[in-house]
Amino acid sequence: MRILVCISHVPDTTSKITFNSDHTEFNQSGVQFIINPYDEIALSRAVELVEGTDGTVTVINVGDASTEPTIRKALAVGATDAVRIDAAPRDAWFVAKQIAHYATEQSYDLILTGRESIDYNGSQVAALVGELLHIPSVSIVKKFDIQDREITIEREIEGGKEVLSTQLPVILGTAEGVTEPKIPNMRGIMSARTKPLQVLPAVDVPTLSTISKYESPAPRGQVAMVDDVEQLVNLLHTKAKVL
Ligand SMILES: Cc1cc2nc3c(=O)[nH]c(=O)nc-3n(C[C@H](O)[C@H](O)[C@H](O)COP(=O)(O)OP(=O)(O)OC[C@H]3O[C@@H](n4cnc5c(N)ncnc54)[C@H](O)[C@@H]3O)c2cc1C
Repeated sequence: MRILVCISHVPDTTSKITFNSDHTEFNQSGVQFIINPYDEIALSRAVELVEGTDGTVTVINVGDASTEPTIRKALAVGATDAVRIDAAPRDAWFVAKQIAHYATEQSYDLILTGRESIDYNGSQVAALVGELLHIPSVSIVKKFDIQDREITIEREIEGGKEVLSTQLPVILGTAEGVTEPKIPNMRGIMSARTKPLQVLPAVDVPTLSTISKYESPAPRGQVAMVDDVEQLVNLLHTKAKVL
Protein backbone atom coordinates (compact mmCIF):
# COMPACT_ATOMS: atom_id res chain seq x y z
CA MET A 1 0.00 0.00 0.00
CA ARG A 2 1.23 3.51 -0.85
CA ILE A 3 0.23 6.11 1.72
CA LEU A 4 0.64 9.90 1.54
CA VAL A 5 0.53 11.81 4.85
CA CYS A 6 0.10 15.60 4.77
CA ILE A 7 2.16 17.37 7.40
CA SER A 8 1.49 20.89 8.57
CA HIS A 9 4.23 22.88 10.36
CA VAL A 10 2.50 24.75 13.19
CA PRO A 11 3.44 26.84 16.24
CA ASP A 12 4.00 24.89 19.44
CA THR A 13 0.82 24.94 21.51
CA THR A 14 2.58 26.97 24.22
CA SER A 15 3.65 29.77 21.80
CA LYS A 16 2.57 33.33 22.44
CA ILE A 17 0.80 34.40 19.23
CA THR A 18 1.26 37.97 17.97
CA PHE A 19 0.66 39.66 14.60
CA ASN A 20 2.54 42.11 12.37
CA SER A 21 1.75 45.82 12.64
CA ASP A 22 -1.25 45.79 10.29
CA HIS A 23 -2.60 42.54 11.79
CA THR A 24 -2.62 40.69 8.46
CA GLU A 25 0.12 38.16 9.25
CA PHE A 26 1.10 36.00 12.15
CA ASN A 27 4.49 37.01 13.59
CA GLN A 28 6.83 33.99 13.45
CA SER A 29 9.77 35.49 15.35
CA GLY A 30 10.73 33.51 18.46
CA VAL A 31 8.08 30.87 17.77
CA GLN A 32 8.96 27.18 18.08
CA PHE A 33 7.34 25.01 15.34
CA ILE A 34 6.17 21.41 15.62
CA ILE A 35 4.35 18.79 13.50
CA ASN A 36 0.62 19.49 13.76
CA PRO A 37 -0.44 17.06 16.56
CA TYR A 38 -3.27 15.53 14.49
CA ASP A 39 -0.79 14.90 11.65
CA GLU A 40 1.47 13.02 14.09
CA ILE A 41 -1.46 10.71 14.79
CA ALA A 42 -2.09 10.23 11.05
CA LEU A 43 1.59 9.53 10.42
CA SER A 44 1.85 7.05 13.30
CA ARG A 45 -1.16 5.09 11.96
CA ALA A 46 0.33 5.10 8.45
CA VAL A 47 3.62 3.72 9.78
CA GLU A 48 1.72 0.96 11.66
CA LEU A 49 -0.17 0.02 8.48
CA VAL A 50 2.94 -0.55 6.38
CA GLU A 51 5.06 -2.18 9.11
CA GLY A 52 6.28 -5.61 7.94
CA THR A 53 4.97 -5.04 4.38
CA ASP A 54 6.51 -3.55 1.25
CA GLY A 55 4.21 -0.52 1.61
CA THR A 56 5.52 3.03 1.77
CA VAL A 57 4.65 6.21 3.65
CA THR A 58 5.48 9.50 1.95
CA VAL A 59 5.05 12.74 3.89
CA ILE A 60 4.28 15.96 2.07
CA ASN A 61 4.53 19.52 3.33
CA VAL A 62 3.77 22.75 1.51
CA GLY A 63 6.20 25.19 3.01
CA ASP A 64 9.51 26.99 2.68
CA ALA A 65 12.90 25.57 3.74
CA SER A 66 12.24 26.48 7.40
CA THR A 67 9.86 23.49 7.64
CA GLU A 68 12.61 20.93 6.99
CA PRO A 69 13.31 20.13 10.69
CA THR A 70 9.59 19.28 11.02
CA ILE A 71 9.77 17.08 7.90
CA ARG A 72 12.89 15.32 9.24
CA LYS A 73 11.01 14.61 12.47
CA ALA A 74 8.27 12.95 10.42
CA LEU A 75 10.95 10.82 8.72
CA ALA A 76 12.32 9.92 12.18
CA VAL A 77 8.84 8.74 13.23
CA GLY A 78 9.02 6.23 10.35
CA ALA A 79 8.01 7.78 7.01
CA THR A 80 9.83 6.27 4.04
CA ASP A 81 10.49 9.53 2.19
CA ALA A 82 9.33 13.13 2.03
CA VAL A 83 8.31 15.82 -0.42
CA ARG A 84 8.36 19.55 0.22
CA ILE A 85 6.48 21.80 -2.15
CA ASP A 86 8.60 24.90 -2.00
CA ALA A 87 6.13 27.74 -1.33
CA ALA A 88 4.62 29.77 1.49
CA PRO A 89 1.33 27.99 2.31
CA ARG A 90 -0.84 31.06 1.96
CA ASP A 91 -4.21 29.35 2.52
CA ALA A 92 -6.04 26.01 2.48
CA TRP A 93 -6.99 26.28 -1.22
CA PHE A 94 -3.38 26.87 -2.23
CA VAL A 95 -2.17 23.98 -0.03
CA ALA A 96 -4.86 21.59 -1.33
CA LYS A 97 -4.08 22.42 -4.97
CA GLN A 98 -0.37 21.67 -4.40
CA ILE A 99 -1.08 18.35 -2.66
CA ALA A 100 -3.65 17.29 -5.27
CA HIS A 101 -1.28 18.16 -8.11
CA TYR A 102 1.47 16.03 -6.58
CA ALA A 103 -0.87 13.14 -5.68
CA THR A 104 -2.37 13.00 -9.19
CA GLU A 105 1.03 12.21 -10.62
CA GLN A 106 1.85 9.58 -7.97
CA SER A 107 -1.47 7.80 -7.29
CA TYR A 108 -1.72 6.77 -3.62
CA ASP A 109 -4.04 4.16 -2.08
CA LEU A 110 -4.63 6.23 1.03
CA ILE A 111 -4.07 9.91 1.84
CA LEU A 112 -4.14 11.03 5.47
CA THR A 113 -4.35 14.51 6.94
CA GLY A 114 -5.07 15.73 10.45
CA ARG A 115 -8.66 16.71 11.28
CA GLU A 116 -7.46 20.35 11.30
CA SER A 117 -4.27 22.35 11.53
CA ILE A 118 -3.97 23.87 15.01
CA ASP A 119 -2.81 27.23 13.59
CA TYR A 120 -5.53 28.34 11.14
CA ASN A 121 -8.06 25.60 12.14
CA GLY A 122 -9.66 25.58 8.70
CA SER A 123 -10.50 21.83 8.44
CA GLN A 124 -10.60 22.38 4.69
CA VAL A 125 -7.57 20.69 3.16
CA ALA A 126 -8.80 17.06 3.22
CA ALA A 127 -12.18 17.86 1.66
CA LEU A 128 -10.60 20.08 -0.99
CA VAL A 129 -8.01 17.46 -1.95
CA GLY A 130 -10.72 14.79 -2.08
CA GLU A 131 -12.77 16.93 -4.43
CA LEU A 132 -9.78 17.79 -6.62
CA LEU A 133 -8.81 14.10 -6.91
CA HIS A 134 -12.43 12.90 -7.24
CA ILE A 135 -12.03 10.47 -4.33
CA PRO A 136 -14.11 10.15 -1.12
CA SER A 137 -12.98 12.32 1.80
CA VAL A 138 -14.05 11.65 5.37
CA SER A 139 -13.48 14.06 8.25
CA ILE A 140 -12.96 13.64 12.02
CA VAL A 141 -12.00 9.98 11.68
CA LYS A 142 -11.57 8.23 15.04
CA LYS A 143 -10.80 4.72 13.75
CA PHE A 144 -10.36 2.88 10.45
CA ASP A 145 -9.56 -0.65 9.25
CA ILE A 146 -8.65 -1.86 5.78
CA GLN A 147 -9.49 -5.34 4.37
CA ASP A 148 -8.28 -5.77 0.78
CA ARG A 149 -9.48 -2.50 -0.88
CA GLU A 150 -12.44 -2.02 1.48
CA ILE A 151 -12.04 0.53 4.28
CA THR A 152 -14.37 0.79 7.30
CA ILE A 153 -14.30 4.14 9.03
CA GLU A 154 -15.65 5.39 12.35
CA ARG A 155 -16.14 9.12 12.60
CA GLU A 156 -17.19 11.36 15.44
CA ILE A 157 -20.58 13.01 15.32
CA GLU A 158 -22.37 15.04 18.02
CA GLY A 159 -23.10 12.65 20.88
CA GLY A 160 -22.16 9.49 19.01
CA LYS A 161 -20.33 7.89 16.12
CA GLU A 162 -20.99 7.14 12.48
CA VAL A 163 -19.63 4.00 10.77
CA LEU A 164 -19.22 3.98 7.02
CA SER A 165 -17.35 2.02 4.41
CA THR A 166 -15.90 2.78 1.01
CA GLN A 167 -13.20 1.61 -1.38
CA LEU A 168 -9.63 2.84 -1.60
CA PRO A 169 -8.36 5.34 -2.65
CA VAL A 170 -9.72 7.68 -0.02
CA ILE A 171 -8.57 10.73 1.98
CA LEU A 172 -9.19 10.85 5.73
CA GLY A 173 -8.90 13.71 8.22
CA THR A 174 -7.78 11.85 11.33
CA ALA A 175 -8.51 12.74 14.95
CA GLU A 176 -7.53 11.54 18.43
CA GLY A 177 -8.11 7.83 18.96
CA VAL A 178 -6.84 6.59 15.57
CA THR A 179 -3.63 5.55 17.35
CA GLU A 180 -1.10 6.88 19.86
CA PRO A 181 1.53 9.23 18.37
CA LYS A 182 4.87 7.45 17.96
CA ILE A 183 7.94 8.98 19.60
CA PRO A 184 11.00 8.72 17.35
CA ASN A 185 13.76 6.47 18.72
CA MET A 186 17.51 7.01 18.23
CA ARG A 187 17.62 4.70 15.18
CA GLY A 188 14.76 6.63 13.59
CA ILE A 189 16.45 9.97 14.26
CA MET A 190 19.74 8.75 12.74
CA SER A 191 18.11 7.22 9.65
CA ALA A 192 15.94 10.33 9.08
CA ARG A 193 19.06 12.31 8.17
CA THR A 194 19.65 10.26 5.03
CA LYS A 195 16.08 9.47 3.93
CA PRO A 196 15.08 11.12 0.61
CA LEU A 197 13.53 14.59 0.83
CA GLN A 198 12.49 15.86 -2.57
CA VAL A 199 11.90 19.60 -3.05
CA LEU A 200 9.47 20.47 -5.85
CA PRO A 201 8.32 23.83 -7.22
CA ALA A 202 4.75 24.94 -6.54
CA VAL A 203 2.13 25.08 -9.27
CA ASP A 204 0.40 28.40 -9.94
CA VAL A 205 -2.86 28.82 -8.04
CA PRO A 206 -5.12 31.85 -8.39
CA THR A 207 -5.77 33.71 -5.12
CA LEU A 208 -9.44 33.39 -4.18
CA SER A 209 -9.39 35.39 -0.95
CA THR A 210 -7.04 37.61 1.07
CA ILE A 211 -6.81 38.14 4.82
CA SER A 212 -8.15 41.56 5.89
CA LYS A 213 -7.27 41.32 9.56
CA TYR A 214 -6.56 38.99 12.48
CA GLU A 215 -7.69 39.88 16.00
CA SER A 216 -6.49 38.38 19.27
CA PRO A 217 -9.09 37.45 21.87
CA ALA A 218 -9.76 40.19 24.47
CA PRO A 219 -7.47 39.83 27.51
CA ARG A 220 -9.10 38.02 30.43
CA GLY A 221 -10.42 40.21 33.23
CA GLN A 222 -9.02 40.06 36.76
CA VAL A 223 -10.00 37.08 38.88
CA ALA A 224 -11.81 37.89 42.15
CA MET A 225 -11.51 35.35 44.99
CA VAL A 226 -14.81 35.08 46.83
CA ASP A 227 -15.16 33.19 50.09
CA ASP A 228 -18.89 33.38 50.91
CA VAL A 229 -22.07 32.77 48.93
CA GLU A 230 -23.70 36.09 49.84
CA GLN A 231 -20.74 38.04 48.46
CA LEU A 232 -20.72 35.84 45.31
CA VAL A 233 -24.43 36.49 44.66
CA ASN A 234 -23.89 40.20 45.24
CA LEU A 235 -21.00 40.31 42.73
CA LEU A 236 -22.93 38.29 40.13
CA HIS A 237 -25.77 40.81 40.51
CA THR A 238 -23.86 44.11 40.68
CA LYS A 239 -20.66 43.44 38.66
CA ALA A 240 -21.24 40.57 36.25
CA LYS A 241 -24.91 41.55 35.93
CA VAL A 242 -25.93 37.98 35.19
CA LEU A 243 -28.54 37.75 37.99
C1 LIG B 1 4.09 32.01 8.17
C2 LIG B 1 2.82 31.38 7.71
C3 LIG B 1 1.77 32.18 7.41
C4 LIG B 1 0.57 31.61 6.99
N1 LIG B 1 -0.46 32.42 6.76
C5 LIG B 1 -1.66 31.88 6.48
C6 LIG B 1 -2.80 32.69 6.35
O1 LIG B 1 -2.72 33.92 6.45
N2 LIG B 1 -4.00 32.10 6.13
C7 LIG B 1 -4.11 30.74 6.03
O2 LIG B 1 -5.22 30.23 5.84
N3 LIG B 1 -3.04 29.96 6.13
C8 LIG B 1 -1.83 30.48 6.35
N4 LIG B 1 -0.74 29.68 6.49
C9 LIG B 1 -0.87 28.27 6.14
C10 LIG B 1 -1.44 27.34 7.14
O3 LIG B 1 -0.41 26.92 8.01
C11 LIG B 1 -2.00 26.11 6.48
O4 LIG B 1 -0.98 25.41 5.84
C12 LIG B 1 -3.09 26.31 5.45
O5 LIG B 1 -3.70 27.54 5.53
C13 LIG B 1 -4.16 25.27 5.69
O6 LIG B 1 -4.78 25.67 6.84
P1 LIG B 1 -6.15 25.12 7.31
O7 LIG B 1 -6.29 25.67 8.69
O8 LIG B 1 -7.26 25.30 6.39
O9 LIG B 1 -5.79 23.57 7.33
P2 LIG B 1 -6.71 22.38 7.74
O10 LIG B 1 -7.62 22.05 6.65
O11 LIG B 1 -7.26 22.66 9.12
O12 LIG B 1 -5.59 21.29 7.85
C14 LIG B 1 -5.96 19.93 7.83
C15 LIG B 1 -4.77 19.13 7.48
O13 LIG B 1 -4.29 19.48 6.18
C16 LIG B 1 -2.89 19.25 6.13
N5 LIG B 1 -2.18 20.50 5.89
C17 LIG B 1 -2.53 21.76 6.27
N6 LIG B 1 -1.57 22.62 5.89
C18 LIG B 1 -0.62 21.90 5.25
C19 LIG B 1 0.62 22.23 4.63
N7 LIG B 1 1.07 23.50 4.60
N8 LIG B 1 1.33 21.25 4.05
C20 LIG B 1 0.87 19.96 4.06
N9 LIG B 1 -0.28 19.59 4.66
C21 LIG B 1 -1.01 20.55 5.24
C22 LIG B 1 -2.50 18.70 7.52
O14 LIG B 1 -2.58 17.29 7.48
C23 LIG B 1 -3.59 19.26 8.41
O15 LIG B 1 -3.79 18.49 9.58
C24 LIG B 1 0.45 30.20 6.87
C25 LIG B 1 1.54 29.41 7.17
C26 LIG B 1 2.71 29.97 7.58
C27 LIG B 1 3.88 29.08 7.91
